[in-house]
Amino acid sequence: MSRVADRADVQTLDNFIGGRWVKTSATEFSDVHNPAVGDVIGRTPLSTSADVDAAVDAARKAFPAWRETPVNARVQVLFKFKAQLEQHFDEVARIVTTEHGKTIDEARGSVRRGIECVEVACGAPSLMMGYGLEDISKGIDCHVLRQPLGVCAAIAPFNFPAMVPMWFLPFAIAAGNTFVLKPSEQVPLSQRKMIDLLQHCDLPHGVVNLVNGGREVVDAICDHPGVRAVSFVGSTPVAQHVYRRASHAGKRVQALGGAKNFVVVMPDAVMERSIDIITESFYGCAGERCLAGSILVPVGDAYRETRDRLVASAKALKVGDGAQPGVTMGPVISARHRERVVHYIEKGVTEGAELLVDGRQTRVADRPNGYYLGPTIFDAVSLKMTIGHEEIFGPVASICPVASLDEAIALMHAHPNANATSIFTSSGKAAREFSKYADASMVGVNIGVAAPMAYFPFGGAKDSFFGDLKAHGRDAFEFYTDKKVTISRWF
Ligand code: NAD
Repeated sequence: MSRVADRADVQTLDNFIGGRWVKTSATEFSDVHNPAVGDVIGRTPLSTSADVDAAVDAARKAFPAWRETPVNARVQVLFKFKAQLEQHFDEVARIVTTEHGKTIDEARGSVRRGIECVEVACGAPSLMMGYGLEDISKGIDCHVLRQPLGVCAAIAPFNFPAMVPMWFLPFAIAAGNTFVLKPSEQVPLSQRKMIDLLQHCDLPHGVVNLVNGGREVVDAICDHPGVRAVSFVGSTPVAQHVYRRASHAGKRVQALGGAKNFVVVMPDAVMERSIDIITESFYGCAGERCLAGSILVPVGDAYRETRDRLVASAKALKVGDGAQPGVTMGPVISARHRERVVHYIEKGVTEGAELLVDGRQTRVADRPNGYYLGPTIFDAVSLKMTIGHEEIFGPVASICPVASLDEAIALMHAHPNANATSIFTSSGKAAREFSKYADASMVGVNIGVAAPMAYFPFGGAKDSFFGDLKAHGRDAFEFYTDKKVTISRWF
């Protein structure tokens, strides 16, 4: 809840409904922080179901004209959006760093990934084509056309403020749907900027709407009879909740959940090339990536060298304000999240894991109020331990050595999450077997962060994903359209 309700210098955000910024009906607010310094930089209104009603109403009204707009005209809006995003690239990246804490290079990378989604969605005239066959019987033809669904909504997490909403928004509107976005209440500023940019793109009013808030907004979206499809990205318990609630209300749902990613290192890995990549996997974005390495699994003789090299490279990271040059790891998102990660480290110690590197004492001299944690490494971790089982979502690596590749795969299979996984090896056979039998749906071979580009599907398996169609790529047009079959005979 907001602790700065009366501070005139802290701006309360508005919702974007029907083509303009409007005040919300919220009576509760949540502070937005710059995690690098601890300052409050905004207030997110915790909007109510009445605000969701208004946004869905605007989106419903905009739908008939938008779906009648030819697809090649719809994507002109996205070409303009891409140009706006390029023009304001550094500004958006700076906002991401300011509200999230990741380094400016990481922020730039994430904005670039968001822009790539806009670019791919510009291919809608090809990507949403149907198919047909003449003479399915004498004189009878059959055609399949893809049609938009209506109002679609997306709910975003805190860790990629600019990018994750772009996994959905450009695809949904390119396909002719109208859209309601709920950003994370912890990082609403990047999306405010991006909606401002979208306003310069000749987008008709009501096609895209934004409602700030938390749980009440999410539940109202899941329940609203006017919303046809819901996309969610966040933790597994909330993904499960959204999947159940929205599908119970008859909606199409894709819910991307939490992760516990295994990184396997074989004895034949090219160690000097691999270790920087592995370090980046565990500590990039302060471990707050759904694709971040979490459990390091050295196989056989790879153990000692991998462990010692990771310890050395983790210690060499420069923790600090991500806006400053030379910093290689920023703070975590909030004081609360820092406490949560510290609690996991304490649990690791009491449950018997061996603490090789302890990030709890890390301080940044000129940023005493930032939410910093240094890289942390535990050895001799088992999946039964809390740190081996639960998603930490912070800069903590857990090492679980095993004797064989089969054992590594079995260990991974024993965990309920299956988002991404990686293997480091120079053996084609090991890589092939690993990618064949890994239960995670995003696999890296000598790649630490197995992030599919915008033209491929993004999403995990088991408790990391609920639904069937993944985010972006061709799946996006499957998700955002219905297939209409017309069978015709002419006399
Ligand atoms: P979160 O689940 O706490 O929040 C996600 C969204 O759900 C937010 O918009 C939030 O307002 C809303 N929400 C939170 N609690 C809710 C509740 N009880 N009822 C209804 N709505 C609720 O996740 P987060 O902390 O913002 O993000 C981190 C999580 O997201 C991690 O678990 C990470 O692995 C996951 N994530 C997954 C992917 C993926 O592709 N699978 C990508 C990014 C992040």
